[in-house]
Amino acid sequence: MRAALGIGMTGETVDPHPVLVADVRIPALDRDNWHMFPPAADGGGFLAICPLSGTPDFQLTAQFTDGTDPDTSLEGVRKVVAARTHLTADEVTEVRWASDFRPRAALADRFREGRVFLAGDAAHVHSPAGGQGLNTSVQDAYNLGWKLGAVLRGGAPAALLDTYEAERLPNAARMLGLSTRIHRGEERRGAATRQLGLGYRDSSLSVETRTGLADEALRAGDRAPDGPCGTGRLFDAFRGPHFTLLAVGTDAELPALDEELVHVHRVGDYAPYGNGLFLVRPDGYVGWAGEDANGLTDYFRLIHKGS
Ligand SMILES: Cc1cc2nc3c(=O)[nH]c(=O)nc-3n(C[C@H](O)[C@H](O)[C@H](O)COP(=O)(O)OP(=O)(O)OC[C@H]3O[C@@H](n4cnc5c(N)ncnc54)[C@H](O)[C@@H]3O)c2cc1C
Repeated sequence: MRAALGIGMTGETVDPHPVLVADVRIPALDRDNWHMFPPAADGGGFLAICPLSGTPDFQLTAQFTDGTDPDTSLEGVRKVVAARTHLTADEVTEVRWASDFRPRAALADRFREGRVFLAGDAAHVHSPAGGQGLNTSVQDAYNLGWKLGAVLRGGAPAALLDTYEAERLPNAARMLGLSTRIHRGEERRGAATRQLGLGYRDSSLSVETRTGLADEALRAGDRAPDGPCGTGRLFDAFRGPHFTLLAVGTDAELPALDEELVHVHRVGDYAPYGNGLFLVRPDGYVGWAGEDANGLTDYFRLIHKGS
């Protein structure tokens, strides 16, 4: 589909060595651990067997550094398991699914062609080493989903859809670099791989009206943190396709708002936010922030039919 649209994919080989990935049954192996077998001195590459929760299967990954290609048949999988682990070939009783790949990092040159949008692995591929693929893909879909809804159902300007690529492509590019560095052992999993610090401060959809904020202050474009909200939690209040206007530690007057579009909550002083008004987007990022509601109505013209 991407090729048919004429959208290029630019990237590099992360590792020339192929990797076998297979869902296997090994009843003799305990399911309490992720079993890791480091590369042997005489070659062969790493092998890992991870229990897949909620199933009787394990996921096996095995790197081939000796110039051979992975054999995805039952016999091929049995052979590599017997050669690199304490298990015997017969203890692999079944291969449910198997494939092979060469880790590569590549990014689509653009995420949109007319009415077609690229999201997830169609837009970016990378080494699985950092465990970033699913989160990044789901965030793509969440970012795009509410914008499509706003334009198609809410009558928002079509330009809102252009912010999808503007916000997600730079994040994907950074994630590719991170995954490659982790694959090559130049960086370890940590705060960056948890993706909680990602945001869109530079986006045209992030409007910060306060000035003189401390460096560490939460501001428009940041991920809105969780916290108490009445008898529940903010994350519960955010959940859904609506915007959430949070009035934190302020009695600031609010304009009349479409109740279906915006849910309003007033909460007491809460340090992670600081005091003010925070408009949280359906995907959980602060879109607009202010000391009072000045400018809030203008912001809605970007994301709704306005008036
Ligand atoms: C070995 C390995 C380990 C990984 N580990 C992690 C991890 O720990 N954490 C993490 O976050 N990510 C991990 N990932 C990455 C993650 O699996 C992917 O990034 C994620 O699944 C991408 O989601 P997607 O919806 O974009 O694509 P996919 O999950 O590939 O979904 C695309 C779907 O489209 C279907 N499809 C394709 N063509 C057509 C067609 N023409 N018509 C109809 N349907 C079609 C496919 O069958 C598939 O179901 C790993 C990947 C691998 C290979």
